[in-house]
Amino acid sequence: MGGAISLLAVNFIIAQVFVVAFLVVAAKSQAKRPAIWCACGFAVASLSAVFETVLPFSLVPKLFAVGAFASVLAGFILIRFGLGFFYRVPANLPFATALFAGSVVLDLLIYDLPRGTLKHAFFYQMPFCLVQAWSASTIIRSERRSRADWILFCLLALSSIYYVVKVYAAIAAGSGTTAADYLASPFALVSQALGAMLIVATGMAILGVMVKEIIDEARASSELDPLSGLCNRRGFADRVAPLLQEGGDDGPGTLILTDLDRFKLVNDTCGHHAGDEVIRQFSCVLRELMPSRAVAGRLGGEEFAVFLPRIGPADARVLAHGMRAAIASTRIIGLPEVAAVTASFGVAVVAAEEPLELAMQRADKALYAAKAGGRNRVECAEAPVHVVANPRRARS
Ligand code: GH3
Ligand code: MG
Ligand code: MG
Repeated sequence: MGGAISLLAVNFIIAQVFVVAFLVVAAKSQAKRPAIWCACGFAVASLSAVFETVLPFSLVPKLFAVGAFASVLAGFILIRFGLGFFYRVPANLPFATALFAGSVVLDLLIYDLPRGTLKHAFFYQMPFCLVQAWSASTIIRSERRSRADWILFCLLALSSIYYVVKVYAAIAAGSGTTAADYLASPFALVSQALGAMLIVATGMAILGVMVKEIIDEARASSELDPLSGLCNRRGFADRVAPLLQEGGDDGPGTLILTDLDRFKLVNDTCGHHAGDEVIRQFSCVLRELMPSRAVAGRLGGEEFAVFLPRIGPADARVLAHGMRAAIASTRIIGLPEVAAVTASFGVAVVAAEEPLELAMQRADKALYAAKAGGRNRVECAEAPVHVVANPRRARS
């Protein structure tokens, strides 16, 4: 009995560690609800260790045995609710209530049945199997498919299968004739150890997907410009980097640099708010007109960049002209009706294996030429040396 009770104590402590870990995640994450529900799940499930420890010394063992059963089941159901919030596949409350109440009533009914029989083991383990399968199905029904999500799915599915195997293992190994005998049986030791391992692995996997979400959120917000909703300079470089690896002899694509004309004047005459609105509207124009695979970013102030993967300079130039015409004809709230906002554009083809910075410098030169040429214009940069040497590219 000593071994099983020691394991119960270990399980209890592990559950408390998870409670704290989920509360920390709840404090750091934007989506607090899933982590709080999981913390409650582990807290409630840990009560089973208390019930099972007291059970052998109690005058009403039935109460503690059913309490242990109910607390684990309630903990699993609370975790299912947490996963539901996290994966946006809400748990059905009436179903959860019926499953919990029905299972507890069933557990009360089978309490006096001889333990170690198929009937007893089946009705005891099936609710756990069902809840874990229900949790696993949450991931399948969601749209998330990262490696961390798959690992969690596998662990939940494995837990579900574990409770089926336990039915037969309980009969084969013998789990004692009474609840108190159970704790003294070798089966209790193995079952508690295996159960603990699965719960630890599942808890770690849930924490893993939640922590990954916090990291992804932080990374996304550090790469996003809040005013325009486009990426900032760092986000732009990060998103363009993998696209630069693509493309054959023709190079990975074309870069457009653009800068609003006489923007300081907009701020000075119409106010900073109107200036901000111009930045928002110009960002909308870029987003609406660029192809779906393109990446747009606000590099700073009123300067923007668009990378067009697998698009040659001729098409990029047409696109830049479209953007130029679109912003010039956009009516912006806060600006006098007669005041048109214009922008200048520099277009530079990116050569195969050319660093983004070099292409940026050439696009910037072209942009400077557009400004010098009177603004509200599109200018193309000279092609890089090794692109001129490519006859196919020279023709485009
Ligand atoms: P040019 O046609 O030569 O580009 O002239 P410009 O006035 O657009 O360029 P300049 O560099 O002189 O002015 C840029 C202005 O952009 C100055 C700065 O106050 C303003 N600005 C930078 N960031 C923001 C912003 O987030 N919001 C607003 N409203 N203004 C900004
Ligand atoms: Mg400007
Ligand atoms: Mg500028």
